[in-house]
Amino acid sequence: MLRERIAENLATIKAAGLWRQLEPWPYPADSFRGQFASNDYLALRAHPKVLEAFHQGLQEWGAGSGASPLVVGYSNAHHELSEQLADWLGFDRILLFSSGYAANQGVLQALQSVGAVPILDRFAHASLYDGIKTLPVHRFKHNDLSDAKTKITSVKAQMHEGTPLLVSEGVFSMDGDSAPIAGLSALVRQQNGLLFIDDAHGVGVTGERGRGAMDSRGSDGIDILSGTFGKAFGLGGAFVASDQQICDYMVQKCRHLIYSTAFTGAQAMAIQASLGVIQAEPERRGILTRNISRFRDYAAQLQLRLLPSSTPIQPLVIGTPELALRLSHALRTENIRCIAMRPPTVAKGTERLRFTLSAGHTETDIDALFSALVRIFHQDKELHEACVVR
Ligand SMILES: *Cc1c(COP(=O)(O)O)cnc(C)c1O
Repeated sequence: MLRERIAENLATIKAAGLWRQLEPWPYPADSFRGQFASNDYLALRAHPKVLEAFHQGLQEWGAGSGASPLVVGYSNAHHELSEQLADWLGFDRILLFSSGYAANQGVLQALQSVGAVPILDRFAHASLYDGIKTLPVHRFKHNDLSDAKTKITSVKAQMHEGTPLLVSEGVFSMDGDSAPIAGLSALVRQQNGLLFIDDAHGVGVTGERGRGAMDSRGSDGIDILSGTFGKAFGLGGAFVASDQQICDYMVQKCRHLIYSTAFTGAQAMAIQASLGVIQAEPERRGILTRNISRFRDYAAQLQLRLLPSSTPIQPLVIGTPELALRLSHALRTENIRCIAMRPPTVAKGTERLRFTLSAGHTETDIDALFSALVRIFHQDKELHEACVVR
């Protein structure tokens, strides 16, 4: 029975053009040529200071942490990293997690057990949806403050004991746009709720000091902030920032924190080095900004249907899974890798290629991408038609 169901499921996925597969990426960490798909926005994955700190950390802390944080997995290196991040982001405390997925799911689950009722931006990441314990999932229209208010009011009317927990993202992973932090902050204050922002793609990248959502207006209204070390930091692992009470509560109740092995102290040292580079080398964000402009200028010349994003996430909406895959495959034959995003990751009809830019790209890399696109569109009129503004 189970086997038949799996087979049926696989066949349906394949027929719908939604088949996913794992393919090894053969190039080294510092290679950005022909690669517009990674989240290594500041090219820190291969930064000498980060690598050196990791090496040194391996001598000191070994290749693994040995246990979960509450046992012996939380080293001095973890503690220093937490203090540095808390200081930089302006929170009482930081907790470290093995991944952003675990952090988001764990925090939401723990808060629901004391009466938080999450209300998600519709475009929230899967890890936030997967933190929901009881159905229905409450969600509001993407970046729509008045719909958020309506949903809060209705949740309050249904659940007298519940506290609305508004959940959104600093930078949305599929669209590259940002939540209206000031508006959301004002709304939760007015409604006696809490605000949880997942800034996986913002921290290290956006804002005057590279602090992502924390550099935006109204950031003092953010009660809980999560972020990953897997994107701009160039490593892996994640953090949650909040006040003393919420962090104390997470240490008691957050299952991903309690029952999962900590990342190694060596990694904590490497993340400290990454943080140091983010703080000391703002020019990396400058290069990234110039690369984004170069990309958008070319795209405008070709009249491509880009979403209005100013972040390194630059989605080209194509509209069907087949055509999105066709462009992705055509780019492959030009030695360029960029992934087609299809349902359920994005809504049906908004299938897209999501280009991501990095400070590691050179002008030549971006020029080569657009030369390839021109060649592809020249050969495939239908694809061209699907990619330009109508
Ligand atoms: C990548 C991502 C996560 C998950 O972080 P990991 O550390 O990769 O598990 C969470 N939220 C958003 C918005 C993301 O893009």
